[in-house]
Parts: sequence; C-alpha cells; structure tokens
Amino acid sequence: MTSSPIWHPFTQHALEPSMRSIRGADGAWLEASDGQRIFDGVSSWWVITHGHRHPKIIAAIEKQAATLDQIIFAGFTHEPAEAVATGLMKIAPRGLSHVFFSDSGSTSVEVALKMALGYWKNIGKARTRILALEHGYHGDTIGTMSAGARGVFNAAYEPLLFEVGRIPYPKPHHAQPTFDALEIACRRGDVAAFICEPLILGAGGMLIYDADTLREMRRICKAHDVLFIADEVMTCFGRTGTVFACEQAGISPDILCVAKGLTGGSLPLAVTLCISPIYDAHFSTDRARTFFHSSSYTANPIACAAAAANLEIWQTEPVIERILALSQSQALCLNELETDPRFTNLRQLGTITAFELAEVPPGYLADVALKLRARLLERGVLLRPLGSTIYVMPPYCTTKDELTFAYRAVSDAVDEVMA
Ligand code: PLP
Repeated sequence: MTSSPIWHPFTQHALEPSMRSIRGADGAWLEASDGQRIFDGVSSWWVITHGHRHPKIIAAIEKQAATLDQIIFAGFTHEPAEAVATGLMKIAPRGLSHVFFSDSGSTSVEVALKMALGYWKNIGKARTRILALEHGYHGDTIGTMSAGARGVFNAAYEPLLFEVGRIPYPKPHHAQPTFDALEIACRRGDVAAFICEPLILGAGGMLIYDADTLREMRRICKAHDVLFIADEVMTCFGRTGTVFACEQAGISPDILCVAKGLTGGSLPLAVTLCISPIYDAHFSTDRARTFFHSSSYTANPIACAAAAANLEIWQTEPVIERILALSQSQALCLNELETDPRFTNLRQLGTITAFELAEVPPGYLADVALKLRARLLERGVLLRPLGSTIYVMPPYCTTKDELTFAYRAVSDAVDEVMA
C-alpha cells in the first residue's frame, strides 16, 4: 500500500497499489526515480507532440515566468495570448474567426456546447438538442460525459447527465446508417449542434473512419443548419498526419476544440474556435447576451507562451516531415504484425497505430489491460491498452529503433500475459 494521500485519475487503487515515480523526461523517454528509462508510447496521455522538454518551449516558459506569471483575462489581454490567437488564425480551418481560451480538453468542449446553445438562444431559435457519435469521448465533466458514450465510467453520474441524440459510429465501408440517423435527427429542427471526433474516436477504442464520411456528416449538418463541432482535442497538431484532422476532409467546422498538443504538451491550455455568427450572436450592449464562461487561469501567460513557441516550431522546423517519418516507421512496425495470429484489426491513422488481441479468453478483458501495462513497464515501455485494444501514439521525435523496441516489448508482454 502506498502511504501517499494522492488519489490518482482513472486509477483503481485497490488494483494498482503503488505509482511509479518519474523524475525526468527527455524526447520520447521518461526517467523513473529508480533510474529506469521508459519509452513514452502514449505521449503522456496524448499531449506531447515534438518530444518532452523541447528547448524552444522550455525557453519560452522560463522567459515568460520571469515577467508575467498570471493575469485576470476579463478586461485584460497580454502578448502571449495575442500571439497564440494570431498564430491559430493562420493555420485553423477557414471561417473560424474567434478564439476562446480555457485550460483543458474538457473545458474546451464545455465551451463549445455552451457557445452552441448560447448562439441559438441569442438569435431566438429554440434549438437545444445535442447530437453525438456512439463510442465518442469528450471528457469527464458533466457536459462532456453527457456528450460521450455511456458505460461503467460514468454510470454513477447518469442522473446528472443530459440526454443527447446518439448517432451510430460510421463503420468502415458501412457508414450509410450513420448518415441516415444524422439526417433524420437533424430534420427534427431542434438540434443545436452535432459533436464528433474527426477521423478517429480515441478513448472509444481508436476507431478510425474515413475523410469522405467526415465530409458527408459535415454536409448533412450544414444542410440542416446544425452547428458542427469538431473535437480535435486529441487529433490537433499533427497526430493524424495533418495539423488538424478536418484538413484531410477539406472541411471547416463551426466550432473547433483544441487542447493537448497546443502547448506541445508542456502546460495545460485549450482553445475553442468559432465562426463569426456565433460571436456576433453574443455581441450586444445587452449584458444578458454575454458569453458567461470563465476560469481563473483563462489564457495563463506562461501556458500561452508555451503555445506561442509551439506555433513557432511548426513554422520554423520540419514538423510535418518528422510526422511523415514517424508514420512510415509506424507502418513498418505494424506490417510486421500483419501475419501474427495474436493480433487482429490492425489499423493506422498518421502517427497512431492500434490493434486488438485476437483471442482474449472470456472474462479476461478486465484484467488484460492492467497486466499488459505492468509487463510493458517492466520492459521500459509505457502503453495504456484500452481493454484488448493496444495502441501506440508516441511523440514525433521517436526513431524507428525506438519504435522497434516498443513493438518488441508488446510482443514479449503479450506472450507473457496470455501464457
Ligand atoms: N476530447 C477528446 C477527443 C479527448 O481525447 C479528450 C481526452 O482524452 C478530451 C476531450 C478531454 O480532454 P482533457 O483530458 O484535457 O480534459
């Protein structure tokens, strides 16, 4: 038993009595307090993009901390926030014209939902219903859990969750039921917004769908005047091969949620971007039309300086080339598993790969992820399988040799766990 008073996130302490202590990180590697080097195969919960402690991001944080640490963001602004907003405007899908800051993926989605409802209320139309994709995940606050898939993770909070219209996940080559359900739901005329994770449903099991499907869902929403919210909290800043996943479908959402990789993964910061009609619907001398949302650390200057440095890295370093190289290395590693009977449903989107364990004995599922995690850690690899789904989502600095090391660890750990 640990004597620490800390209650860790998404952790069943009765099954995981002790936590590994980490004292450092560099590139794609963590250093445990006992000296073990651990490959960060999940980019520290999908946030680290370039690698841990990118020198330009660290320098920007140090510089900013020396001049302005924090300032209330209502009635005030500062240079790092302006730099982030201006930089985002240059790379964001066209049509998005306003930037609202918050501090996590969940808050960026809460803001998106509130923007959507505020828009319809302020223009005097009775649209309050939210549509969301089956198997979606948007965070762990009440609003984001409501929009996300229901299950054991949120069963206890069910009485607090609001009802949303659930649209079937678009299975590869079988997306018509999704389009039909979306079309029917949108026709009701009471839908404020449809929210989805573009191209890949992350926590729902790394479920991939194609760009044509994303484009068609966007088209249906537009045809019915339903606001389209793209939750790019996980996919933003290159994870799927392009800066934003929406780019691959050539679409522009009405509202875009961005978090995790915004600061290169160094500090918590999020933004929700929206089109001008949404901003305009809140722009009024009538105070009742104000967008009533804030948090104490909105647009914290140090986090913004980290994000501004990240944007500059994208402008000045060959980030897309690194992403391409990593994607190619990922494809090679995945290819080696192609004929391995232990694995099935191998798939890849940009820098992310995922596959399932082929034969998980019944009743085994609850334990397998935890056991795999432990065996992988012993081998110096951090991965967090989602049930029987193993995925690899490393930082972009990862080399082919490092990936090979991680996949070898997967192979050995699976052998040991399934024995
Ligand atoms: N939306 C998506 C698509 C996510 O993957 C996540 C987190 O994994 C969130 C929202 C919530 O982000 P956060 O954990 O920063 O609140």
